[in-house]
Amino acid sequence: MAVLGIESSAHTFGVGVVENGKILSNKKIMFPISDKGLIPSKVADFHAINANKVIKEAIEEASVDIDSVGYTKGPGIGSCLNVGQLAAKTISSKYNLDIFPVNHALAHIEIARRINKFSDPLVLYVSGGNSQILSMVEKPFKHYHVFGETFDIGVGNMLDIFARAAKLNPAWGSSVAKAAIGGAYINMPYTVKGMDFTFTGLLTNAITLIGSEPMKNIAYSLQETAFAMLCEATERALMLTKKRELIICGGAAQSSRLKEMLIAISKEHSIKFRPIPDEYNADNGAMVALVAEEMKNGRRYSIEECGINQRYRVDSIKITW
Ligand code: MG
Repeated sequence: MAVLGIESSAHTFGVGVVENGKILSNKKIMFPISDKGLIPSKVADFHAINANKVIKEAIEEASVDIDSVGYTKGPGIGSCLNVGQLAAKTISSKYNLDIFPVNHALAHIEIARRINKFSDPLVLYVSGGNSQILSMVEKPFKHYHVFGETFDIGVGNMLDIFARAAKLNPAWGSSVAKAAIGGAYINMPYTVKGMDFTFTGLLTNAITLIGSEPMKNIAYSLQETAFAMLCEATERALMLTKKRELIICGGAAQSSRLKEMLIAISKEHSIKFRPIPDEYNADNGAMVALVAEEMKNGRRYSIEECGINQRYRVDSIKITW
């Protein structure tokens, strides 16, 4: 029996169906990006308007019997998470399906791990709101331990804020990448402490330079510096943990420059690294369904205990598979 997964933590409302680890459908709709950023209530309204249509499309394309529904419990934007939660609870009650609250970061990690068929990778999870380096540890319970993370904002968010300040076009991360073409390197603040890092000093410096340096130089230097910080911390974590597999996941994992840098590192240390297609790094419902399917082997959840948690930490979750 198949599992339906609903993702609604930020600008994407995504619905996927999986059965025995196989993705049968993966439909989504995205709130249109504008220079106003994400206004939570507006994004939630958009999700609520489109939820029924996307759920229907995913179920029709998969065309299988479904016995469980998973939804994103967090982390994410509260009003957006609530739409997915409500949709999942309604479907669960109406059709008598088991319901599973899923951690968003875990979903990003697990879909990348499964597509790669890796057993024990080091993970660089990079998105708008998150930037973390993780891997599985067995004690005191089996979980993804956070070896390093941002002390302030996620790398995606940093690129977004810069792009808006620089009046670049929406689809911020990729517009910074475009603006960086042909740029020359100028020194920028580089802050890595062990396997942790911060981005706001770098961001402030880049914004201050707008108008006094050519845009291509600022965009290039910002991108190179931020990604080099992530790569230094990742390389250190690889050496410390002695992992032989590397995963990059999350929305910012769609960056080709970041992937290029990680390919160089993994070649140097003979580490397995195969970035997955962008469709699965962007927020999507199939990743939620995959984790919910694993959770079917564990305990059941009552509707009452299935809430949302905007700050739901991945390292608090006991892995049962
Ligand atoms: Mg995400």
